[in-house]
Amino acid sequence: MAGEPQDDCLFCKIIAGQIPATVVRESETTLAFRDINPQAPTHILVIPKVHHPDAASLAAAEPLIAADVLREAGGIAGEEKLDSYRIVFNTGSGAGQTVFHAHAHLLGGRGMQWPPG
Ligand code: 5GP
Ligand code: ZN
Repeated sequence: MAGEPQDDCLFCKIIAGQIPATVVRESETTLAFRDINPQAPTHILVIPKVHHPDAASLAAAEPLIAADVLREAGGIAGEEKLDSYRIVFNTGSGAGQTVFHAHAHLLGGRGMQWPPG
C-alpha cells in the first residue's frame, strides 16, 4: 500500500534501524542523515518516514509531509550555517535517481554552477 514500508527499500531499512546512518535530525515525519558518498562539504538526505517512490508522488499523497521535508532541509541548512545551498529531488533514473524512496538532497559548502550537469 502507498506509504507503507517496503522490504526492498534501502531508505525504509535506514528508517527501521536495519542499516546504520549518520542521523543529523529527526522529526515525527522525517529523517535526515549524511549521504554516504558526499558531493559537497555538506550533503544531507532528508527523507519522509513514509515510503513514496519520488518527491512528486509524496507531494500528491502527503502534501504536509512533503512540506515537512522542505522545512527540515531549510532548518538543517541554518544549523550547518549555509548561506547558499541547493535542494535537489532527482526524479527518474535518467535524472540520476538511484533510490526510489522520496528524498531531498541538501548540498552546500562549495560554489555551484547553474545549470547543473
Ligand atoms: P539519488 O541518486 O537516488 O538521487 O540519491 C541517492 C543517494 O543515496 C546517493 O547520493 C547515494 O550516495 C546515497 N546512498 C546510497 N546508499 C546509501 C547508504 O547506504 N547510506 C547513505 N547514508 N546514503 C546512501
Ligand atoms: Zn522506502
